[in-house]
Amino acid sequence: MILIDGKKAAAELRAELKEEVAELKSKHNKVPGLTVILIGDLTPSQIYVRNKEKSANEVGLKSEVIKYPDSIEEKTVLEKIQELNSDENVSGILVQLPLPKHIDKQKVIEAIDPSKDVDGFHPMNVGNLSSGYESSIPCTPLGCYLLIKKIEPNLSGKKAVVVGRSNLNGKPMTQLLLKENCTVTITHSKTKDLKAECLEADIIVAAVGIPELVRGDWVKKDAIVIDVGINKTDNGIVGDVHFDEVSKNAKALTPVPGGVGPMTIACLLKNTIDCFKRSQI
Ligand code: NAD
Repeated sequence: MILIDGKKAAAELRAELKEEVAELKSKHNKVPGLTVILIGDLTPSQIYVRNKEKSANEVGLKSEVIKYPDSIEEKTVLEKIQELNSDENVSGILVQLPLPKHIDKQKVIEAIDPSKDVDGFHPMNVGNLSSGYESSIPCTPLGCYLLIKKIEPNLSGKKAVVVGRSNLNGKPMTQLLLKENCTVTITHSKTKDLKAECLEADIIVAAVGIPELVRGDWVKKDAIVIDVGINKTDNGIVGDVHFDEVSKNAKALTPVPGGVGPMTIACLLKNTIDCFKRSQI
């Protein structure tokens, strides 16, 4: 079984991006800039943002974090986004989710200029992805896609099952696999026989949030299995896939932690650079 090393893949991607940033700097005399807005003092969000800033600096991007207290008015956030939209030194804008209850998440997402939407959540980018046009692609599914392609460059005709239909993971993942000519089944909490669906799959991407849902006898021999889940349990962090069982059947499997997670941030950097490149055309 191939243990898909997300840490290594992310380090390789960051090294490529670092070179690309250096080339862009010598060509345009400036570097792509990522601005993250962080609202409130939720510890996981603070850790994510710190890691994003660290990785952005590592590849040579210009990075800035704007911090607001929980009590900040929605209007102030929207005005700041407008200001960043028209700032030519800002290539990518990310508002760290979740937001306090009094701030309308969708309003915030839609305020970001789609050409600077490094999370790929703006309806324009969602539509472009599903129509097969160029767009920012949500970072986690993009990371999953790059890991799958490393194992199997030609996905045409493969049967893929995506478990979970969130806007963040399942739906964009489905679009990426469709673009590669996979036959894709998207499954969710109302799917009647999830095991039977998974048993058909050459590729399984699990993004559910239920610890070790996908069992060993759900997985066909030689399937590629990507585990997006991050679940805190009494035994530590586990994924949505039962690692020990599935590793006996699968051709390739991502561990949790150290699989998809590290690719998410590397893909955020990639998206920032891609936004910059599109703005220079
Ligand atoms: P979500 O809660 O928004 O969506 C979960 C989906 O799973 C829903 O579409 C639901 O229909 C489906 N589902 C629920 N129960 C099911 C069942 N019994 N059978 C089949 N489908 C079922 O979750 P999300 O935001 O997509 O996140 C999923 C997991 O991925 C979580 O563990 C989250 O922490 C993790 N995550 C990891 C990363 C990363 O970087 N690795 C990034 C984002 C999210």
